[in-house]
Amino acid sequence: MKMSKMYMPTLREVPAEAEIPSHQLLLRAGMIRKLVSGVYSYLPLGWRAIRKVEQIVREEMDAAGSQELLMSAIQPRELWEASGRWANFGPEMFRLKDRNDREFCLGPTHEEYFTSVIKDEIRSYKQLPLNLYQIQTKYRDEKRPRFGLMRGREFIMKDAYSFDVDEEAMKEAYQIMWDAYDKIFTRLNLKFKIVQGDTGTMGGKTSHEFMAMSEVGEGVIAYCDHCDYAATDEKAEVVYHITEDALDILPIEKIYTPEVKTIDDLKEFLSIEKSHFGKAIVYKAAGNPIVAIIPGDRELNETKLANYLGVAEHELEMADEDTIIAITGANKGFTGPIRLKPDARLILDYRITKMKNIVVGGNETDYHIKNANYGRDFSGEIVDDLLTVEKGDTCPKCGMPLMMDRGIEVGNIFQLGTKYSEAIGAKFLDENGKEKPFVMGSYGVGVSRTVAAIVEQYHDDKGIIWPLVVSPYHVIITVINTKNKEQLELGEALYDKLNKIGVETLLDDRNERAGIKFNDRDLIGIPIRITVGKRAAENIVEYSLRTSEDKQEVNVDEIEELVL
Ligand code: ATP
Ligand code: MG
Ligand code: MG
Ligand code: MG
Repeated sequence: MKMSKMYMPTLREVPAEAEIPSHQLLLRAGMIRKLVSGVYSYLPLGWRAIRKVEQIVREEMDAAGSQELLMSAIQPRELWEASGRWANFGPEMFRLKDRNDREFCLGPTHEEYFTSVIKDEIRSYKQLPLNLYQIQTKYRDEKRPRFGLMRGREFIMKDAYSFDVDEEAMKEAYQIMWDAYDKIFTRLNLKFKIVQGDTGTMGGKTSHEFMAMSEVGEGVIAYCDHCDYAATDEKAEVVYHITEDALDILPIEKIYTPEVKTIDDLKEFLSIEKSHFGKAIVYKAAGNPIVAIIPGDRELNETKLANYLGVAEHELEMADEDTIIAITGANKGFTGPIRLKPDARLILDYRITKMKNIVVGGNETDYHIKNANYGRDFSGEIVDDLLTVEKGDTCPKCGMPLMMDRGIEVGNIFQLGTKYSEAIGAKFLDENGKEKPFVMGSYGVGVSRTVAAIVEQYHDDKGIIWPLVVSPYHVIITVINTKNKEQLELGEALYDKLNKIGVETLLDDRNERAGIKFNDRDLIGIPIRITVGKRAAENIVEYSLRTSEDKQEVNVDEIEELVL
């Protein structure tokens, strides 16, 4: 592509809305643009990076025996009623009606749909195993879309579904997908960890998350350096405590909170089976608004909340978000000022930044503090130094202390079992002619989020540093002075030659100052660079890599060998 003709609206300034490097750089490099919150356009360079990731995903899925197809993004309500997820998915689901008032959603995921598609078509065990996938746009009305492609409301996902005769066969299918994901993220040059995850609203017992390591990741990983144990902090049930040091340093006061010390107490307190962050409900207690962070799909027990706050139940009412003065966590992991679980952090960032003298804390005696102020005592950022993992929070496998790290969830694989096949009545006949529900797995890769994760791991202060395999182009040829005939002609000849041998090449033939061209090429991060300048008449050009300061003067005839 000739850059004089390319649509690449780069920005000099860092856009104010963008907080993390990938968001800033993808905007600045003219790769994405926002339409509305959480909805982005992929511009030509960004789209090429997306397609590169898709291609690697596709190759590994095909190699693993999965078959690509494409389903509709629109799904009728009835499908989701069957699994109970029309109600359970909650406000994250985009819903719409047609002209006859029939209800639909824009698919946030496709378990129900895939199950219904093979139902009545696959009738015999002889047709199994089966694994199908698609690369498609998904819709989730996220509570807080942010960080550009990282958490969109419209995003690209590869989703796959496996169908097997029994649990054992399903576990084999799961292992095959695990291996495929391992290859995908390795080929993408990502530094990642595979961790045990929670199954959440997906159902099933076992899941693993593929986490690209990054400071800005919203996922917290508990892992062991002495064995291979790694899990999300939720799954590992890590308890965060504020260190005594922190209490000395911070101008805050400890106050008494009720006796909720163990997970069983907590379950009791919340009347739930399983603690899981989900939504925040704003209540008023005796005129004082508070925020209760409550588990995923359940409603908080208001009687208990009232007791907890020492008010009568009728005094609880929904509060106006602007007047919140206190926040209380309903989860052991929520320890207010020092370390907040990602979702709690969001709520803090979102609602409490302007409030003064609030109460924050976790559900343990002595772990609430009052008169905390945003900015002074806590922030959306994490102050790891002031945090300890509870003593005795050791690896469940080998007993050594657990380590903590942050990651971006780029992939997630689930052993679903028969939740969806039973709900939808998708059955086959086994060897003995007996009807059985399919045993299923589902497997997601966040394609657009992966592009953002790559940029998080590969950038410097000048711009993106694409690994070759996902770079929108392999080579960029910069013609220093396009008015100089020899330079322009040499650049064009080289450009033609490289494209002819399949090297995806950009030619910067814009009539701009050299400085602008150099800045842009650093910003857009093309790995291999060729500069055509003063020595063009001698057929000498400069060769360099985005990853290094080294430059090399070479004869144009040597370029082909260097590039391939
Ligand atoms: P998260 O925990 O970040 O909300 P999730 O667990 O809800 O993600 P899954 O249902 O497991 O997501 O979907 C499969 C993959 O799709 C995720 O691993 C992630 O890479 C990607 N993904 C999920 N939500 C988003 C989003 N809002 N924007 C971009 N990618 C997403
Ligand atoms: Mg989610
Ligand atoms: Mg998740
Ligand atoms: Mg997930």
